[in-house]
Amino acid sequence: MLLDLSEKVRLSKLSSTVGIADQVTRLREASQQVVDFSAGRATEDTPSYIVEAAVEAMKSGDTHQTMAKGTTLFRSACANKLERDNKIIADPEREIIATMGVKQGLTIALLSLLNPGDEVIVENPCFVSYHQLIAYSGGISVPVPIRPENQFRWDKAELEASITSKTKAILFNSPHNPTGVVHSREDLQLIADVAIKYNLYVITDEVYERMIWDGNTHLNLASLPGMRERTITVMGLTKSFAMGGWRVGFIYASPTIISYMEKLQQHLITSCNAFVQAGAAVAFGEPPRAEVTSYWQEWQEKCRFATQTLNETPGLSTSMPQGAFYAWTDISALGIPSEVFCKRLLEEMGVAVIPGVSFGSIGEGHIRITCVKSWQEMEDGIFRIKTFVEKL
Ligand code: GLU
Repeated sequence: MLLDLSEKVRLSKLSSTVGIADQVTRLREASQQVVDFSAGRATEDTPSYIVEAAVEAMKSGDTHQTMAKGTTLFRSACANKLERDNKIIADPEREIIATMGVKQGLTIALLSLLNPGDEVIVENPCFVSYHQLIAYSGGISVPVPIRPENQFRWDKAELEASITSKTKAILFNSPHNPTGVVHSREDLQLIADVAIKYNLYVITDEVYERMIWDGNTHLNLASLPGMRERTITVMGLTKSFAMGGWRVGFIYASPTIISYMEKLQQHLITSCNAFVQAGAAVAFGEPPRAEVTSYWQEWQEKCRFATQTLNETPGLSTSMPQGAFYAWTDISALGIPSEVFCKRLLEEMGVAVIPGVSFGSIGEGHIRITCVKSWQEMEDGIFRIKTFVEKL
């Protein structure tokens, strides 16, 4: 009999976002018509000026490994982006590292910080992969509720009560997946105060930073007094530039933390893909062109369409997200567990959405609907959801 495989992997769950999206791919390959509102993947292709930069790089021989921390060109573009969009002055040589998307960035952030048994506070609900990435990195995730009655924000007393002698870091996401909340200056100050008081690191996942609707503002925790040294800012191009398949992002952190991550990248991936970095450098090196900003405009309109239309259905309640591109729909009035709702919706109506409970216990009673599909899919899929609920 063979020896047991990894306990950590055995005990971890499949990703509901990627898992359901894969299921949709299989159904479509079997010629079934499915509307896919599962993973947060926009229907739009990457803008052509970015694609051309990568193709050009490939054609001109940019097909070799790069420095482990990324090309100077890409890291300089990231520094430009930080200065332009976030008013952060970063040293591209010592404070920035390229990553293969945000999940890989989060992984090296966690591996850099954690010793076995260290605890990381996360939001409940939170992005489905946080718990697993923390566990794979040897840590223990400690979910602290962000409650609907508190507008999906942490309560200071509850946050402080979750801290133990093993707490090493806080990991949070704003704009928030799945609730669509954009954390205000007060929310960030609360996190900063707690981090400073208890001497914690903070990992901030800012992948949705450009998806900000209706006059809300995205703020960077690293800019708050006393936070620069203890914050790891993880950013990506996946969402903003419709570059999901490129798997590219970057981290801004202190030189010491970046030096730890550099070691990890040398052993884990050698480097991010060379031509991918060349394309991403164009995306970040200049202000986003109209092709990109028109996507953002379109996504906001689709979020508004989805939330307004869903609210016409008795039993469903959805707020317009402040940021990110998900409708976080309250189905609690229907009295059906979110996993059962999603399974039946897929089987009976051919619409894939994500059960709220997969983001954490506080997410039960909700479903998450990705609102960045074609208009035809948006209209058809939302109509099918309404029909499904009406005949329940
Ligand atoms: N982050 C996106 C989501 O929440 C994409 C899927 C994934 O990477 O897990 O749907």
